[in-house]
Amino acid sequence: MARAIRSLPYDVAVIGGGSAGVAAAVAAARNGARTVLVDAGPMAGGELVSGLPLNAVLNARGEWVAGGICRELVEACRAMGGLVEPYFDWRSLWLVCVDPEIMKIAVARLLREAGVDLLLYSFAEDVVVEDGRVTGVFVLNKNGRSLIEADLFVDCSGDGDIAAMAGAPWEKGGEKGELQPVTLIFRMMGVETEPLLDFVRRHPENVGLGECLLEPRSKADCAEALYRQGVPSVFFDGKAPFVAKAIERGELHPCGILAVCPLSTQRREVSLNTTRIANLDATRTDALSDALPKLLDQVWTCADFLVKRVPGFEKAAFSGVAPRIGIRETRRIMGEYVLTGADVLAGRKRADGICKGAHELDVHGAGSAHRREMIAEGGSYDVPFGCLLPKRTANLLVAGRCLSATREAHGSARVMGTCMGMGEAAGTAAAICAADGTSLRQLSVPALRERLAAQGAILEGTH
Ligand SMILES: Cc1cc2nc3c(=O)[nH]c(=O)nc-3n(C[C@H](O)[C@H](O)[C@H](O)COP(=O)(O)OP(=O)(O)OC[C@H]3O[C@@H](n4cnc5c(N)ncnc54)[C@H](O)[C@@H]3O)c2cc1C
Repeated sequence: MARAIRSLPYDVAVIGGGSAGVAAAVAAARNGARTVLVDAGPMAGGELVSGLPLNAVLNARGEWVAGGICRELVEACRAMGGLVEPYFDWRSLWLVCVDPEIMKIAVARLLREAGVDLLLYSFAEDVVVEDGRVTGVFVLNKNGRSLIEADLFVDCSGDGDIAAMAGAPWEKGGEKGELQPVTLIFRMMGVETEPLLDFVRRHPENVGLGECLLEPRSKADCAEALYRQGVPSVFFDGKAPFVAKAIERGELHPCGILAVCPLSTQRREVSLNTTRIANLDATRTDALSDALPKLLDQVWTCADFLVKRVPGFEKAAFSGVAPRIGIRETRRIMGEYVLTGADVLAGRKRADGICKGAHELDVHGAGSAHRREMIAEGGSYDVPFGCLLPKRTANLLVAGRCLSATREAHGSARVMGTCMGMGEAAGTAAAICAADGTSLRQLSVPALRERLAAQGAILEGTH
């Protein structure tokens, strides 16, 4: 028998506590809504705490495009000594790297200070829908099976679980069912930056460098600039000789990139983004479970390769794996507007934009396949409010990786700066509707934009 898990029904229930969900819950609570954030895992943060750099916080021109809650989290990490200052990767992107251990603390504090009720270890497994309205979400945890009731729901599950269960239309992967690979991020500490960057300077042909159309420079010049910058940020190219030959020799798994990004200056620790299994449907728990031992084998083989073959890693130690397998692509919920690849590449601005995307179009394939295309002039595009409004639902928003987008556009908008912007907009919109009884489709988008701008969101004034 299901029972209400807390005494009061909520104004806003956010399901999924990753970058989008954290921002959504904090925004809803700060805007006066009684808010609960539900997550299946033991900790909030999702991919924010897996050791990945934050993309689309700045555009390729170095302009900040993410403000609001995203910027607050970045500043909280800085205040705790857990930020590597934003830098240009001498490929095509500006990156913000944070210490994931410090981000865990920053996220927990932000939620607590905003007054969000956090319900962890709780899997949302079913919905109650009445006349197109979601009235409740069933969660399963050690308390038993409980019903979370709220006026508005925000689906930040990454996979769009709530929207799919509520009957919203969705698409998954490409026309032939192809899906971007899943990856287990891992970490190495005690890495020496100087020999690593000197190696890149001597062999720039092996590294993604000098791709930025705004600042066309030779790979050699970029490698020199990277060396002088002194940040251990190196994107070994899976098709270039150094990695390709290692794959041939069986020393590495087939991969498009072997990306090294800094995490902690004090621990001389970096994250490695390289392991992969393509075309795995991560909404299938059995498939995801089977993938873990294979990914861990790739991790261990790659850690060994780094120590034996990559200067700067000779004395480095393996220091851990991300809390979960990273999922790039599952469901895209179809909403009132579907963001397109053309919107992204043209850097299209819109009067109904609720946050900015600025990451290149970035679709990983199987093995070393990888499609990447820059946004016009290294600028940004607007994500319209309609991308958060799933069709065939009345009081539900989506934010984060499950936004309404084509597969191409999703390849850009899925990154964390943009996910946090969408989350902040969704949480704010939900709170406004809960407070004044407006429906999501009657909500004034100009008024929402005004509220977001007052909260520090960046909606205008960048390329
Ligand atoms: C390998 C990899 C590399 C990437 N590289 C970068 C990068 O360099 N920079 C960048 O900015 N982005 C990168 N991304 C993309 C980015 O990290 C994610 O797309 C983004 O973090 C998604 O945020 P989210 O909040 O939508 O989902 P997540 O962060 O995945 O959070 C979803 C949360 O929902 C919870 N959940 C799911 N289903 C349920 C349910 N039914 N009930 C309750 N809780 C549920 C999960 O436990 C999880 O905490 C990468 C992604 C991957 C996988």
